[in-house]
Amino acid sequence: MIELPPRKGVAVRLKRGQRLRLVNTFGDQVVDTWAVMAADPTEYMSMEHSRRTTGHLHPEPGDILCSNRRSPMLRIKEERFDGTHDTIVACCDHWLYSHYGCEAGHANCHDNYLSALRDVGVEAKHVPNPLNLWMNVPVVGNEVEITSPLGKPGDFIVFLAEADVFVVLSACPMDVAPAQGAAAINGPNLEPMPVHYCVE
Ligand SMILES: [Zn+2]
Repeated sequence: MIELPPRKGVAVRLKRGQRLRLVNTFGDQVVDTWAVMAADPTEYMSMEHSRRTTGHLHPEPGDILCSNRRSPMLRIKEERFDGTHDTIVACCDHWLYSHYGCEAGHANCHDNYLSALRDVGVEAKHVPNPLNLWMNVPVVGNEVEITSPLGKPGDFIVFLAEADVFVVLSACPMDVAPAQGAAAINGPNLEPMPVHYCVE
């Protein structure tokens, strides 16, 4: 397995039919996840379009996540996780950390996405809404709550590529809980942790 260090991002090339196994090694870490078509990165995995085709707010095994042009991109082949993944909340960015009073330069998923793609030769300008793996955002009635993670060490998810894609992963750097009693997105220690992945 390859380690994705905390606060870092990576773009992983998958050919159609290959699988990406991602392990939440310590259980609490949220991983913001995107995919873009290798042939045309302006076509990206879209949570808005996927919710329409899967009929699910929270993706489940068997769901096929599709692009902004309605092409299949990633199928959730398998997972071990007693909880739900979020598709609603935008990734963290430097504006959010500035709003929270953090020092300039705080690592963030928005910049991780752009730099991970740049590392594989893709210049992206737009950051789509991610699939926030293991992020606990229950929706009850009209209430969207951001709360503590439910993952256990060793929980995993396996994606099957339905097209030639780059999958971008960001081990979310969120390490602040700004309000009194606010949920710690990456667990009670407010300490982002590494996760591990491999291509199968
Ligand atoms: Zn983040």
